[in-house]
Amino acid sequence: MTMQLATLFGRTLRQAPAEVDSRAEQLLWRAGMLRALAGGSIALLPLGSAVARRLAAALATAVRESGAQEIWLPTTASESWPETVIDLARRDLDSYRQLPQTIWAWRRRRRALGRNRASLLDLPTPTTLSWAGLALDAAQAQTLFDEMRARLTATLQRCGLAAVATTLDVSTTASLIVDSPAASLPTLDCPACRLRWPRDLAPLPPLPAYDSSTPSASLVETPAANTIAALTAYLGIPTAATAKALFFTDQRSQRLVFAVVRGDREASLVKLAAAIGAGELVPASAEQIQACGATPGYASPVGIRDALVVADLTVANGAPLVAGANRPGYHLRDVVFGRDWQATVVADIAQAEAGDPCPHCGTARVEGVGALVGALTAPQPTAIIAQDADRQNRPLFLVGIEIDLEPLVHIAVDHHHDERGIVWPTAIAPCDVHIVTLGRSEAVAAAGQTLAAALRNAGQAVLLDDRDERAGVKFNDADLIGAPWRVVVSEKLLAADQVEVRRRAADQAIVMDRAAFIALVQSETPGDQSSATTLNP
Ligand SMILES: [Zn+2]
Repeated sequence: MTMQLATLFGRTLRQAPAEVDSRAEQLLWRAGMLRALAGGSIALLPLGSAVARRLAAALATAVRESGAQEIWLPTTASESWPETVIDLARRDLDSYRQLPQTIWAWRRRRRALGRNRASLLDLPTPTTLSWAGLALDAAQAQTLFDEMRARLTATLQRCGLAAVATTLDVSTTASLIVDSPAASLPTLDCPACRLRWPRDLAPLPPLPAYDSSTPSASLVETPAANTIAALTAYLGIPTAATAKALFFTDQRSQRLVFAVVRGDREASLVKLAAAIGAGELVPASAEQIQACGATPGYASPVGIRDALVVADLTVANGAPLVAGANRPGYHLRDVVFGRDWQATVVADIAQAEAGDPCPHCGTARVEGVGALVGALTAPQPTAIIAQDADRQNRPLFLVGIEIDLEPLVHIAVDHHHDERGIVWPTAIAPCDVHIVTLGRSEAVAAAGQTLAAALRNAGQAVLLDDRDERAGVKFNDADLIGAPWRVVVSEKLLAADQVEVRRRAADQAIVMDRAAFIALVQSETPGDQSSATTLNP
């Protein structure tokens, strides 16, 4: 199809709105590809949509060609992709004869981000290509994982997204995070092995276990020591020797959640909510805390009833700690998890910080900022049992890859623009050829339409600037929109059946025969495949 600028929904702008502060997003605004909606969400207008569809088509083709089968997920899933796949596999897979299996879907992935603003990088539920493999053992799962990573890496590179492709090159479960001048997600990064985590989700490796010669717990009077700071000052102990009690209400289930972390640590609400499948967590009221037998300011998990107790790995390693006595003015010394108190769930819920070791190589991690563009799930056993060829029951292994579509449009512009505008990689450009007609003659207008039709028949996507504008305005807009080819049709050129052609990345235009130009474009550009794509709305 030919898009015509005179009637295109979304016009070019001299300037982006003042609140748009990143270069990439300013260009997308000015090129008429992106707009913000009143509710704080984003719309890709037809030219921007064309970019997203080409990128989607390229990614979907890579996955389809692997033999993966598509499933349709019509709503925003509250479950994670691995949970969705396990849920499906539980009902339909139980034998080695069905394995390995690979499935994929377009879905809306719910992401936990620190910041929520009108930006392609910060969408809370981006459109996500989600692929998963199910295998009879870890080795088979690893093979599926490696093959799909190689396919997607090649596709991303072809689409001018080498920075994103690089993030796939890890052999572990990981968030895919890339740099961008507009990135706002706080991260924790390993400078040695290059792994990066959203800071709220960064794992904290377990701390050393304790020495078993701990005496039994004993009551100690601690007047007015109702904070960790007051307690450590009064007893003359480090904060790391205390247990901190935190109370929340799960807004989804209305359950009281009692989290326990070491005194020198904060809890990550994102990790805590994920560990127990909770909705939003809000601080619990004093009445709720007292109802489970705890005393605000002197609370501890010792002797608690009717609460969901979540112990962080920092307190569940058997180290003796000072904890509240659930009695005003008193604490307990040498309280040991497993001996003096139990938890409903033991999980890594503490906030990891700069300096904490990388769980893979032990290097001290540093704080950073990045853009979240997907996730990898390395081979992991599931609770689903299948029979192998020897009729032995084995757990199925799962692998997964998720790639968020809209942030990639932004990242592509980060890497492909100049002072004049966007310079789209050919594979994801909104159109292959941008035709500019000069002058008001009907012959030129007709020639523009004829050329557009010829290019379309040659499999090219065309944008025709048929507006009644000055040449300078049209040329500036062609540079701004950034199609790989700009071709000028004018009265003078028409007489010789010629066109003036310029590659977007080049400085000089050349004049050539119309037919030769069509052949040249056809030989270099892949043609428009986007109409073959279906994208889950
Ligand atoms: Zn590391």
